[in-house]
Amino acid sequence: MDGGTDTKEIYENVMNILEDLTSNAHKLQEQVLEEILKSNAGTEYLSRFFPNGQADKQSFKTNVPIITYEDIKPYIDRIANGDTPSILLAYRITQFIQSSGTSGGQPKLIPMTVESFEKRMYEPLLPDLVIKRCFNGSDEGKSLYLYFIKPEMETPSGLVASLYTTFYFKTKSFKTGLAKFCTSPIETILCSDNKQSMFCQLLTGLLQRDEVVRMGSSFASVLPRSIKFLDDYWKELCSNIRTGYLSDWITDAGCRNAMSLILTRPNPEMADLIQQICEDKSWEGIIKKLWPKIKYITSICTGSMSQYIPLLEFYGGGIPLVSPNYSSSEACFGINLKPLSKPFDVSYTFLPNTAYFEFLPVNKDGGGKARDTRTIDKPVDLVNVKLGQYYEVVVTTLTGLYRYRIGDVLKVTGFYNKSPQFQFVERQNVVLSIDLDKTTEEDLSKAIMKAKIVLEPLGIMLTTYSSYADTSLMPGRYVLFWELKMKGRNDLPKLDAEIMEQCCCIVEESFDFTYKSLRKGGIISGLELRVVKHGTFDQLMDYYVSKGASITQYKPPSCLKSKEAVKILNSGMVGKFFSSKTMF
Ligand code: AMP
Repeated sequence: MDGGTDTKEIYENVMNILEDLTSNAHKLQEQVLEEILKSNAGTEYLSRFFPNGQADKQSFKTNVPIITYEDIKPYIDRIANGDTPSILLAYRITQFIQSSGTSGGQPKLIPMTVESFEKRMYEPLLPDLVIKRCFNGSDEGKSLYLYFIKPEMETPSGLVASLYTTFYFKTKSFKTGLAKFCTSPIETILCSDNKQSMFCQLLTGLLQRDEVVRMGSSFASVLPRSIKFLDDYWKELCSNIRTGYLSDWITDAGCRNAMSLILTRPNPEMADLIQQICEDKSWEGIIKKLWPKIKYITSICTGSMSQYIPLLEFYGGGIPLVSPNYSSSEACFGINLKPLSKPFDVSYTFLPNTAYFEFLPVNKDGGGKARDTRTIDKPVDLVNVKLGQYYEVVVTTLTGLYRYRIGDVLKVTGFYNKSPQFQFVERQNVVLSIDLDKTTEEDLSKAIMKAKIVLEPLGIMLTTYSSYADTSLMPGRYVLFWELKMKGRNDLPKLDAEIMEQCCCIVEESFDFTYKSLRKGGIISGLELRVVKHGTFDQLMDYYVSKGASITQYKPPSCLKSKEAVKILNSGMVGKFFSSKTMF
């Protein structure tokens, strides 16, 4: 964007669009459902539910079942194996989008059509403009966005299957839009070797350090990993800048070509400056120091990503952390209309034109526990959700998902015009459980947030965590993995057994009545806390990436299900502690 007036006009237009969308939420939702039914009611999947051919909203709600991926998987598999897509949707499928929801899960295949992409094309632009509007001068300058791709797959029928981000980074819309403002040349983003890609993206980011006004990634998990990479490679990055010569191990032709246009001459002055900053004993505020004009960091940091907030605030040195949107491979849900709100207070305003939304009430009893939603009340429409209530979101899309459970639990925090605003609470069914206890992702996160306060005065930071229910012994117990580091550098903290045991007790005390009574009755034994050294969770991410997860869309698993994952974390263990609590 150039002239100030033009920019102002663009912002005004965006706000007018948002006003219009949110004021007409009900009408737009009706239209979206009508369009879907008009096009797709005759498909093999849907027509079964409309025996007399009447595919109106009422019959849709009465007859079409609420489903999970397993229910449509047979149809998807048939299409992947060569059957006509019209068994599920009326449009031609251009490719599949691979979605994992959680990085540990099996990837699902979601159909993508020309029509659906046309609708989603502008998705990243809206939050981007809403954010820029809040930060003076951020429409100038460049974005250090760390984006990565994952190699595509092909189904037996010849359809490509890729992650949504991989697909999007290859579109003309990205190349001619957002990419133009990125410090990373498109070739470095499209390099399928993540290490070469990361090195080149950080190098170009450093070379253009005086132009960078924002830094970001799709999900927050990428940023601490990038800073860790910077910590491991800054000497080599500086040497490349000093000599003007790209490291030989960067062999990707696209990367080398693109870098040759940016790394054009030796720049010892810049190398000295960066070296001086990186040699600093403390990396507090390193982002602000390396990129002095930066105004904000943008990355999804709600839900399971919230564990990275303290670390990002530490590295950011006071730069606002903005969580832009709530979206998935299946649909775009909403955007954050208050980019300046504190990361833990973020709500997303639903966009009523992107899919048809329904909400399954989730009962949270006094202890904040989500009960099984399969046996509960009927779903409600977007405009009928109630303030303060918890819901699981269900979508119907043009791409063959009909009353499809996304698996996310949300809480209504307000309305913008007629559109509800939601806080992301947790993934449904991510629970620790030994007996009758059910400790959800949110319960765990809250308990850990309380316990880690004890470590703060000692200068110890909890950088990331995970857990699993260990039932190999009787009675079973919860095991937590914490990656800890000293605030200044990545040194391993000296662990005081008494303090660590206190953390175990605080976590247990924060759990609900059921947990505590089972613990008191000896059905669950004392919680175990395993401290792992800095970098261990990077190995866990590498493991999931090797199994098919992507770095860009990586979601750290709060509860581990895989033995291999537990083994990886155990291998970095430097101390274990137990709750000594005997009575509640
Ligand atoms: P995927 O389609 O594999 O990238 O995963 C989508 C999932 O990521 C969603 O269903 C959520 O569980 C999670 N997710 C997406 N956006 C957010 C957000 N803003 N806050 C928390 N979790 C999110």
